[in-house]
Amino acid sequence: MQQTQVAIIGSGPSGYTAALYTARANLAPLLFAGEKSGGQLMNTTDIENYPGFPQGIPGPQLMMDMRAQAERFGSQVIDQYVTAVDFSAKPFKLWTHFPEGTTGEMLEKATPEEITQFVKTVKATPHDVEADAVILSVGAQPKMLGAPGEKEFLGRGVSTCAVCDAAFFREKSTIVVGGGDTAMEDTLALTKFVKQVTLLVRGDTMRASKVMQDRVLHHPKVKVLFQTTLKEVKGEGAVKEVVLKNTVTGAEETQVIDGVFIAIGHTPMTQLFAQEVSLDSHGFILTRQSLSAMGIEMARLALTDEGKVGFPTMTSVEGVFAAGDVVDTRYWQAVTAAAQGCQAAIDAERWLEKR
Ligand code: NDP
Repeated sequence: MQQTQVAIIGSGPSGYTAALYTARANLAPLLFAGEKSGGQLMNTTDIENYPGFPQGIPGPQLMMDMRAQAERFGSQVIDQYVTAVDFSAKPFKLWTHFPEGTTGEMLEKATPEEITQFVKTVKATPHDVEADAVILSVGAQPKMLGAPGEKEFLGRGVSTCAVCDAAFFREKSTIVVGGGDTAMEDTLALTKFVKQVTLLVRGDTMRASKVMQDRVLHHPKVKVLFQTTLKEVKGEGAVKEVVLKNTVTGAEETQVIDGVFIAIGHTPMTQLFAQEVSLDSHGFILTRQSLSAMGIEMARLALTDEGKVGFPTMTSVEGVFAAGDVVDTRYWQAVTAAAQGCQAAIDAERWLEKR
């Protein structure tokens, strides 16, 4: 069994930054990177909006560099999943082994009931790690439609981040799928560059805030198609056309298109932690800096005598911190995730000192 002052779970920009900072604070962190380390940026091509790289940098390269930098200062990066945690008593307990016959891939596809059973089975065995503090930086994944062609053309015309990719579609025709605030923001971000944006909303109303809806509905470059879904993405090397389907009549129509932006929400990777820390209604981990009424209430309860919020990145469990996309319901950028990883590391260091 391994013992550590700080265990970090997750290997995206927030996890590696938390490891870099806690290592430089001489806390010798253990970072559990999962079997496929590096997070979402391993699936991207060039990152052009991470400061410090004027010519851009390939996503996988950025992540390997972040890992090397964290290791250089003494972080131990372990390419294993954390399979269960127990935050009910200190030191916190972590499990990193799989029960016989189960794999990480199976866990990724498991239903919530299967995960509950899985965790129960794991916890019936001896734990593998004890940690004084834990930083959760397990990320969130953009939801996908599951339409044919969507995954095949990801990074070649299909994108899940308009803020990152809008500039590649100057004077082109694009489609955004979704009816929430993210879809509105993506649509408006695209209008700054593209010739036209068609927004596909599957129902007859949008879920986004009224003010955002109004901006989109009245924008001259935007056409909104209600009761319409994306049935298929087609192309050769890059996206060329899409098949749209009317959800009421079933009628199908093919449209020539250059870019497809999927904005139907994010799934935070919190299934394993749902019983251990408080989550919001979308499953994101709540901290004292969550951008929601619950986050504000947690911050209010954590006010110090000086009127400042104590340990802003702390979750509902004292000594467990969270950072990056698993907390973020708004920005979802590598640079914001890295910044939160830094904050969580500094909070963890100060909390450990104060204990
Ligand atoms: P939401 O869950 O709010 O919205 C998801 C949207 O995608 C819904 O319109 C939903 O349709 C649609 N959708 C889901 N699955 C499919 C599918 N298979 N096919 C077609 N459409 C689909 O996610 P968001 O990412 O937009 O927002 C998440 C949270 O973050 C919200 O609380 C939001 O307010 C907040 N946010 C705030 C921002 C801001 O204030 N600036 C910016 C961005 C997000 P349906 O309605 O029919 O279910």
